[in-house]
This record gives sequence, structure tokens and C-alpha cells, in this order.
Amino acid sequence: MGKSKNSEQRQCQPVVLMYHGIVSRTSASPPEREAGAGFYDVTAENFRAQMEYLKTNGCTAQRDVILTFDDGEMNNFEEALPMLKEFGFTGYFFIIAQRVGRQGYMGWEELRALHEAGMVIGSHGFSHEILTNLQDTQIQEELAASKKYLERNLEIAVESLSVPRGFCNDKILQMAYKAGYKSIFISERPAGLKSACLSRIAVKSHWLLRRFIQAMDGRTPAGERIFEFSKNGFKQIGGGALYDWMRRMMLKIK
Ligand SMILES: [Zn+2]
Repeated sequence: MGKSKNSEQRQCQPVVLMYHGIVSRTSASPPEREAGAGFYDVTAENFRAQMEYLKTNGCTAQRDVILTFDDGEMNNFEEALPMLKEFGFTGYFFIIAQRVGRQGYMGWEELRALHEAGMVIGSHGFSHEILTNLQDTQIQEELAASKKYLERNLEIAVESLSVPRGFCNDKILQMAYKAGYKSIFISERPAGLKSACLSRIAVKSHWLLRRFIQAMDGRTPAGERIFEFSKNGFKQIGGGALYDWMRRMMLKIK
């Protein structure tokens, strides 16, 4: 009985994966990247293994999988796009409007190619600022200006948003819906959040295929759960600046 309930839940709840950089040995990191972004870099080899797993196991009647890519780095065009085409997959690409065409980021030509290949182009804010740190007028600007800028230059409708760097609240989500976004992606869902949005599983650089499969099955290894919990605790208590600081510290220790 428990088992059938579980599979029912899975059918209506898609697994949404959040990628950032898909990197090869020759990929250069953009100089503007935030500290700690390397934590989310997935090698092209690992990405291929994960797509192969999804092709054979993931995208079945059992569960829907949505692929998303944040930040719009050039490696998404060079490494991820050819593989997605090869596997017949599509994904959402969330673009930091201000960084289009900057060193290490995709330009309009690459974004047009993504769109033509059936990928969805969404906004990831104008400047990648943490929205919970901003005044309402600035939040409004980040949401509306990024949408308009991408729409005008690509001549497409931009209706999806990935909230930059995972910090959000009901006010921000409601402002985003008001700005014309129809689907909003966050990272982990903060406690108490009421607004509709899609939470995502962040695929991390150190994951082996076994860990990826665990994530697809909704399992988190015991040791990791403590880390995830404390990270979220920090996010809620300290807000963006403290979390940023803490993440930088952790990576230094590592
Ligand atoms: Zn981002």
C-alpha cells in the first residue's frame, strides 16, 4: 500500500535537476563567477553518464525529469547543448541578463541557437544579486528588466524565472508572477513558503553516478543530510550575506 502511494506521488511531482557549469578540461571559468561556483561544476563525462542514466531509467512513466541550467555560461552551449541534442532532451537555461556576451558567458547567437534547438530560455535576474537583500524597487527592476532585455534581443517570450542563488520568499515570488513569469524555479523550498514554485535538486561536482541515482530516487545519504540541513538553517537565519560568507569559508577549508 505504502509503495503504490509513493509511486503516485512521484508521478505528479517531477524531479527537477539544477545544473550550472558543464565543464571539460579546456573550459575556462568566467572571471565574473561568484566564489564557490566550482562546487556545482559537473564534468562533461559525468554529465554524459547522468544523461545516459536518465535515457534508460529516468524519463519513464515512473517519473518526469526536468533539466535546468543556471547562469548561462558558455560551457552550456559548448558541452551541454550537443549532448542534449544527442539524447533528444530539452532543458531550461536561465540567463543572467547583464552577463550575456561577457567573457565566459553565452552571447545572443548562442542563446538563439539554444532556442532553435527547442530549449527554453528563462531569466536568472538582471545582475545575479540575491533578491532578498534588495529593496522592493530593485527587486522589481531585476525581475522586469531582465525579462524585457532577453525578450527584446531574442524576440521570444521569456516566462520562466530561476531565482538567483536560491534566496526567495513569498513577496518575491508574488512580484515575479506580477511581472509576467509563469513558472518559477527555486533551489530548496524554504520552510513556510506558500507560493507555487518548483524546487530543484542541485547536482554537485563531486557526485558520482551512484549519488546521482540516489538523488533521483529521493534519497540523501545520512552524512550529507546534516550538511544540507545546516546550510538551509544558515540561509533562513542569516540571509544571503552570511550564507555567502559561510560557503566561501567552507571552500577555503576544503
Ligand atoms: Zn546563479
